[in-house]
Amino acid sequence: MTGKELKIEFRLLMDAPLMDIKSPIQSFRRVSPAYQKRLLKLGIKTFEDLFYYFPYRYDDFSKIIPIANLKINETATIQGEITRIKNIRTWKKRMFVTEAFIQDENGAVRAVWFNQPFLMNSLKEGQWISLSGKVNFDKTLYFSNPAHEKIVANATSHLRHTGRLVPVYPETRGLSSRWLRYIIQLLLPKFLPEFKDHLPFEIKKSQNLIDLKNAIKEIHFPQSANHLRAARRRLAFDELFLIQLFAQRQKIKWKKQYSQKINFDQKLAKDFVDSLPFKLTEAQRRSAWEILQDLEKDQPMNRLLEGDVGSGKTVVAAMAILQAVKAGWQAAFMAPTEILAQQHFKVISKLFQGQQIIIGLLTGSETSINSSSEIKSQKKKELLDKISSGQIHLLIGTHALIQENINFKNLALAIVDEQHRFGVAQRAALQKNILKIKDGQPVSIPHLLSMTATPIPRTLALAACGDLDISLLDEMPKDRQEIVTKIIPPLARQNAYTFIKDQVKKGRQVFVICPRIEIANNHESGTNNTNKETNIREIRDKFVKISDKRSWDDVKTVKEEFEKLDKIIFPDLKIAMLHGKMKPKEKEKIMADFKAGKTDILVSTSVIEVGIDIPNASVMMIEGAERFGLAQLHQFRGRVGRGSHQSYCFLFTTGDKAAGSRLRALTSSKNGFELAEKDLEIRGPGEFFGTRQWGLPDLSMASLTDIVLVKAVREEAEKLVKSDPELKNYPLLTQKIFQKQTLLHLE
Ligand code: ADP
Ligand code: MG
Repeated sequence: MTGKELKIEFRLLMDAPLMDIKSPIQSFRRVSPAYQKRLLKLGIKTFEDLFYYFPYRYDDFSKIIPIANLKINETATIQGEITRIKNIRTWKKRMFVTEAFIQDENGAVRAVWFNQPFLMNSLKEGQWISLSGKVNFDKTLYFSNPAHEKIVANATSHLRHTGRLVPVYPETRGLSSRWLRYIIQLLLPKFLPEFKDHLPFEIKKSQNLIDLKNAIKEIHFPQSANHLRAARRRLAFDELFLIQLFAQRQKIKWKKQYSQKINFDQKLAKDFVDSLPFKLTEAQRRSAWEILQDLEKDQPMNRLLEGDVGSGKTVVAAMAILQAVKAGWQAAFMAPTEILAQQHFKVISKLFQGQQIIIGLLTGSETSINSSSEIKSQKKKELLDKISSGQIHLLIGTHALIQENINFKNLALAIVDEQHRFGVAQRAALQKNILKIKDGQPVSIPHLLSMTATPIPRTLALAACGDLDISLLDEMPKDRQEIVTKIIPPLARQNAYTFIKDQVKKGRQVFVICPRIEIANNHESGTNNTNKETNIREIRDKFVKISDKRSWDDVKTVKEEFEKLDKIIFPDLKIAMLHGKMKPKEKEKIMADFKAGKTDILVSTSVIEVGIDIPNASVMMIEGAERFGLAQLHQFRGRVGRGSHQSYCFLFTTGDKAAGSRLRALTSSKNGFELAEKDLEIRGPGEFFGTRQWGLPDLSMASLTDIVLVKAVREEAEKLVKSDPELKNYPLLTQKIFQKQTLLHLE
């Protein structure tokens, strides 16, 4: 131990009686206010937070060898005495180079560091040092910018920067992994005894999980790759398990509530199905059946209908609505955008033609009513009155449904379309507003059906939707034609334009998707990340190893692309532009014009993503395709091929090889679920969903690709909740769930 370390050790002892693991980190005086601020940026407030701040990768410097055995290009650790060290100033490059020679029993090697002249202050001739890095060659073997630490001669224990699996943490300006390693290694032994294992012994045993103390120790300073694996598995299990327990208990709570029984009128269902211009798929039949079975219970349904773009969720939802309304109840249907709400209003009005069902539409800017297949606009107050009097049977709308003060007379079924588009807070508001709970009265809440077109990989569904029952539309209607998907390298761009022109001549329409609106920092796509500061999102990105961190300068913008296509490429075609910063009215007008065939080409950001139905559109052209996730690209692609025309999806790229192989997955696979699994593997769930709305922490996110683990977690949670619903025998666990719950804002 060096003199400096001794001093710190002493201070630690002095501070020690005042600190426990929940203490704010500033109670340790070694951490200066500047460092406290930086730690706070990483979300670290207490000592516990610090120990739960996990490395996102490790440098494998575990191979310690004699200097004489070093080989070029090898990553290794050597240990020896500094025989010479000096700073050299290179005038040409205006750089400091610190050069040292290190010698062990049978060899010597050179090491150089660039622009770290201060190293001379701590590294002296005659000292022993441990060095790790990749071996280079320039006349002789040498290390360039190796990791280093001072040691007592030939020491191998207590190494933290070299000679082992070295943790690398998500960093922020002024706070390096080196510093974190130092502080964690210093503090961990003191606090480790305070980690109490909340996981029941039986579960640890049956799942072969290591102890919490060990896991925390090994995740920071693993003895070996195997130890690390065990630690990650244990900690991932923990996170998923707490979420799962929480979800299972929610499910029990939910099922304890009361809702209206809606009898399954088989003739009604059959007549409706017979009236459709197509035959239902097996998956649609099965899902409808599952839903209608749920509605017959006086426990509220809480079901997720999961189905790829175009798999026909709307008609399944309509079957549920029909049952509810014909039994005398009201239904509500919420969609994430105005365009989509309007589309549902029209489509469902048509599906229910002749059924004498009165449908209302309520969005931020429009209120309408449909009776006997005639759509009339309606004053909002009148619409609200008709809802509370029960004259309106089905109310379709946007967030307005939860924002306005709506009093349903007898709401028995609520449907949320594209539910992943709504944040956690909005879903909570839905439960509060639509699922109004009246004090004092017998509590009756509507059955809840959520729908999503993002094919959630099974693991994620199991983990994140633990409180939901799931129906799967894993089959597309038979009559669908394949969409020809092609990656277009820069050189072939002109050909694609010619092709597009030809399609327009034939009467077809074209979508063009760009990743951003304009050059400024405020683009809207989910793939953006230009914030210079390291924020949590960036940390997660690093964690899931997204390598694509190139500048945004070369990225196509909607405004530029619009100008280019309008003025230069297709001056004789009618082109419109759509993006999220436009007013809803504007957007609507542009969509309506496009739908009516008044424009040929629509240049848009990803706002187009959800649900839009334009059967005449035959080309989807995506600029900067490598900027989007596979699942999202698949959604874009689903915008075409909805009519009888052969359709095409063109992926324009910059020719980046890595992105190319990812995009090829899209050209070869038509299956959204398959693509979602791949996307999850490649990009991690955080990117996959664009935001943190699933509330899953990083480690568990990474392990979501591990279906075996996720399944085990769910089974163990179910078992535990079944045997002890209140978790009376597990106070530590209850406490942990409570902590997590406030952290995740799940309620
Ligand atoms: P999504 O699941 O993406 O919401 P929609 O419900 O909008 O899909 O359905 C897409 C299109 O497919 C609609 O035009 C719908 O009428 C049609 N459709 C639905 N089910 C079938 C089926 N079984 N056979 C043929 N077409 C269908
Ligand atoms: Mg839909």
